[in-house]
Amino acid sequence: MLVDNHGRTINYLRLAVTDRCNLRCFYCMPENGIKYVDRKDLLSFEEMYRIINVLSNEGISKIRITGGEPFVRKGIMEFLEKVSKINKIEEINITTNGTFTEDKIAHLEDLGIKSINLSLDSLDKQRFFDITRRDVFDDVMATYAKLVSSSIQVKINMVVMDGRNIEDIQPMLELTKKDDVSVRFIEEMPFNGTSGQGNKTLWPMKKIVSTISEKYQIEKLVDPPFSTSSNYRIAGYKGSFGIIAAYTRTFCGSCNRIRLTPQGTLKTCLYDNGVISVRDVLRSGATDLEVVNHFKDTLNKRVKDGFEAEKNRDLNSPISESMATIGG
Ligand code: SAM
Ligand code: SF4
Repeated sequence: MLVDNHGRTINYLRLAVTDRCNLRCFYCMPENGIKYVDRKDLLSFEEMYRIINVLSNEGISKIRITGGEPFVRKGIMEFLEKVSKINKIEEINITTNGTFTEDKIAHLEDLGIKSINLSLDSLDKQRFFDITRRDVFDDVMATYAKLVSSSIQVKINMVVMDGRNIEDIQPMLELTKKDDVSVRFIEEMPFNGTSGQGNKTLWPMKKIVSTISEKYQIEKLVDPPFSTSSNYRIAGYKGSFGIIAAYTRTFCGSCNRIRLTPQGTLKTCLYDNGVISVRDVLRSGATDLEVVNHFKDTLNKRVKDGFEAEKNRDLNSPISESMATIGG
C-alpha cells in the first residue's frame, strides 16, 4: 500500500502521456505553444506500462490518462489495450479535448474505459474558438454526441473564466436536463505556460454556486469518497453538475492521487515542482522493488496541501508551466 506521511492512502495515478497538443487553450498554453520535451526524454509507453504494473501491486487501482492531448500520441490505443488487461487496475478514465476521439469511442467501450472527461469550455462556436484558438468545435460536439450515446460515463470539464464564458454556465447546465452527463465547472489555475495568473480566479467555487442557485433550484448530492468536485443536481434534471475548487483547494485533506508528467516526473501535489524523476530511476536500471521504494520514500515527505506545495516552490520557481506538462 502507498500511504503518505499524513496517513492518506494513494490509489489513484494520473498519467500525462504527452505534452503535445493540437489546441492552444489560452488558460493552458501561450498562442505559439510551449517548448515540448525532447522525444527521448518522454516516458516511453513501455516505461509507463511498467510503472502502472508495479504500482498496481501497491494499491493503485485507478488511472487517469491525460496530457497534453492523449490521442495525439501514436500508439495510445495499443497502450490502453495493454493497461486494460492489468488485473488490479479497476478503473481507467481519460481526459481529452475530443478532437480525435469520435472514431475511437467504440474501441474505448470495448476496452472498458469507465469515464471520459471532455473539455468543452463553451457551447458557442465563436467563443470556443476564442478560447482554444482552433476551429474544431464541430469535431468536439460530434464526439460529445457519440459519447452520450455510448456506455462510457461522460463528464464535461469547463474552466470558468470571467469575460470569456460566463454566459455558457446556463447552457451547460441545460445539457444536464436530458443528457446523463456531469458538467464540472473548474476554477481557473495559474498553469498557463507563462508566469502570470490568467483571470486571477474571479470565479471561485462559492461564486459559481451562488450564481447558479439564483436561477435554479439545486440539490446537493452526496460526493463520492475522494471526490475533488462538490456535486449538485437541478431538480428534475437527468444529469448533474459539480464545482472543482482547483484554485481555492478545499479538497487536499483527502487527496488520494499522484501525478506523472510526460517526462516521468512524479508530482505528489498539483502545485509542487516535481519531486523525483521516475524516468531516471527506471533508466538507471532499478529493480521493481527499488522503484516502489522511491515512491514510498517520496510519499513519506509529502506536503500537507497545495498551499504548502506552492509556498515551497516559490523559493525556487514561481508557477510558469503549462497544464499540458502536468495533465490537469
Ligand atoms: N488535452 C486534454 C483536455 O484538454 O482535455 C487533456 C489535458 S488538459 C491539461 C486537462 C484538463 O486541464 C482540461 O480539462 C483543461 O480544461 C484543464 N486545464 C488546463 N489548464 C487549466 C488551468 N489553467 N486552470 C484550470 N484547468 C485547466
Ligand atoms: Fe491542449 Fe488540453 Fe491544454 Fe487545451 S487544455 S491546450 S486541449 S492540453
